[in-house]
Amino acid sequence: MDFIKRYTTDEGIRLAIAVTTDTVEEARLRHDLWPVATAALGRTMMGGLLLTSDFKNQENVSIRINGRGPLGAIHVDAFSDNTVRGYVDNPHVDVPLKRAGKLDVGAAVGIDGTVQVTRFTKLRQDYTSQSPLQSGEIAEDLAYYLYTSEQVPSTISLGVLVDPDYHTIVAGGFLLSALPDCSDDVLAEIEHNVNQLGPITAYLKDNPNGEGLKERLLGTLNSHEVFSHDVHFQCTCSRDRFLNALLSLRQEDKDEILQDKVTELVCHYCNEKYHYSQEELKALFEKPTHIQ
Ligand SMILES: [Zn+2]
Repeated sequence: MDFIKRYTTDEGIRLAIAVTTDTVEEARLRHDLWPVATAALGRTMMGGLLLTSDFKNQENVSIRINGRGPLGAIHVDAFSDNTVRGYVDNPHVDVPLKRAGKLDVGAAVGIDGTVQVTRFTKLRQDYTSQSPLQSGEIAEDLAYYLYTSEQVPSTISLGVLVDPDYHTIVAGGFLLSALPDCSDDVLAEIEHNVNQLGPITAYLKDNPNGEGLKERLLGTLNSHEVFSHDVHFQCTCSRDRFLNALLSLRQEDKDEILQDKVTELVCHYCNEKYHYSQEELKALFEKPTHIQ
């Protein structure tokens, strides 16, 4: 089962760990993603979940990454209830593998662009900031964003392992961030631990539920779990929401829609299809007041 866990330490290090294999697999199935698209979207979805750190304020995070590569833009919304949704503009992209048969996410995403992060809550205005892409490999780009835009020094690792038959074998990652009072000795220990761990996908392949990952990363630090929650792919769309969008169209667009026996609307974020019959729409469009 997918989860996100957050830890603090007495030494000024914060750690968030996410294992999201089922969530990434659901995104793959919904969007018919090819492997490099699964890796790129999966990493970004995990990144979004890890960045929604401010859970006390019910904060949501949207990430847009556009490096002008063949994948187009990546769109992810991660919500404070630990659900996430997302899509890529071009799910059917294939780029040559890197050495050792690794997916070349950077080549698919491109590096001629930005990562844009929007933090929003129900109460507070949106806060949007962006930074230039560094490698298109996502984790490094998000760490650079956190450092330059939010002044948070961090290490991010995001991994998605895809089988030759396209299904998601494991997906997971972590975000380590340092508070200003963190000592150099502690930072050196953390850096050593991260280097010793090696690639996150290799670790998760042997430990698919992230067993022992917190201990490996935090070593001798005195840690406390502050949060643990299930994670799911979930969209905020619904049949009624799309219906409201139809009702707000201009009259000439409504007239055009009414030419069709059935109108199909597709949600970009989850690929859910909604169908509305000519009779249903005709009756609704003729109502004097719009439903809300
Ligand atoms: Zn949707």
